Amino acid sequence: MSDHWLPVADALATIQHQIEPLHETETVPLQDALDRIIARPIHAEIDVPGYDNSAMDGYAVRAAEATIDAPLKIVGSALAGHPYAGELAPQSCVRITTGAQMPADCDAVIMQEQVERIDSAIRCQTNVHAGDNVRPQGSDIHKGAVILTQGQRLTPTHIGILASLGCAKIEVFRRLRVALFSNGDELVLPGEKLQADSQIYDSNRFTLHAMLQRLGAEVLDLGLIADNCDALEHAFRQAMRSADVIISSAGVSVGDADYTKEVMTKLGQIGFWKIAMKPGKPFAFGRLDQSWFCGLPGNPVAAVVTMVQIVQPMLRRLAGEHFSPPLQLQARASTSIKKKPGRMDFQRGHFNQRDGQLWAEPAGSQSSAVLTSVAQANCFLVLEQDRGTIDAEEIITIQPFDSLLT
Ligand code: AMP
Ligand code: MG
Repeated sequence: MSDHWLPVADALATIQHQIEPLHETETVPLQDALDRIIARPIHAEIDVPGYDNSAMDGYAVRAAEATIDAPLKIVGSALAGHPYAGELAPQSCVRITTGAQMPADCDAVIMQEQVERIDSAIRCQTNVHAGDNVRPQGSDIHKGAVILTQGQRLTPTHIGILASLGCAKIEVFRRLRVALFSNGDELVLPGEKLQADSQIYDSNRFTLHAMLQRLGAEVLDLGLIADNCDALEHAFRQAMRSADVIISSAGVSVGDADYTKEVMTKLGQIGFWKIAMKPGKPFAFGRLDQSWFCGLPGNPVAAVVTMVQIVQPMLRRLAGEHFSPPLQLQARASTSIKKKPGRMDFQRGHFNQRDGQLWAEPAGSQSSAVLTSVAQANCFLVLEQDRGTIDAEEIITIQPFDSLLT
């Protein structure tokens, strides 16, 4: 049976191969640029810092003159924003504060804690070397250097660097538009009254919506769609008009009420995959006119795992972001871990560090219906497709939860 199942790596490769990144861009103010994807490489148009300046509060000196016990006369001051314009006679120095421009004749700063102050002179208590406590022009960024490359997701530090270069606006790829709906006659909107024997609250749409927010997508929420062909077709047609990607949860298995396949076959090209992952199968992927479609499984943990492992890389690529595989680490299993060969398991696990080594174990229930087990975990235990049960102390691969899960 497992022969018909698509290995995770193949599913990822197929998707990455088919997706062409969007290229439309927009220019946004720097304050609104967090988490956006850079559309063009950014070159520095200035040096940072723009002038040699002091790294300390102290005295700007000529290092050759500033030997132990040498008295140097204070002839002026250089403050941040207020440089010292005069010339420096021999055996003199300038009071200087952090960030102030170095006076032209000086090549070092002696910290104020390392001098003895005598009226309007100082006596050095240590030897000074050229360059001490000086931040040279361009030592952070050289004019012309490539600071950010296309496809980088802007972090708070990037925003600060761009500000230090004087950029007020930045060209980024436009946000992805993602239409989202859930499928199932048993689903009820949170806030509404629940019939305890036949209904459950729709949780997937809220989990997925939150993940899409973290990814920076614009979400078109189409709500709850009943288990019937007309309702589904209407939802798909509505989504196709505006969305780059349509994501649905449930209704993609082969149950009697799973109409996605029927509707998709009518409207577009669709592949229904049994991905050899646990949890995760079944998964639908395809093209509907201008939109991509991802049909996620209904079980809440399976929806989360496929979103993180399969859909996330696709959305990042489509949005123009550089795709870098998730961080995976080696850990030692602290208990035995049940597994059957045939599928790659993404068990929800917990890892910590003890005795200079990472240890990991399953976190709570591994049922694909138990969403609380994801909340208790801090990593996936990524257990290879061919592997069977793992003994305590064996080495396993873990994948710490990323920003979609933390
Ligand atoms: P299905 O994929 O339609 O066979 O659904 C699989 C399981 O996931 C069933 O137990 C559903 O009730 C449950 N399920 C489907 N959609 C959701 C949802 N949006 N939120 C929470 N559970 C769901
Ligand atoms: Mg269903």
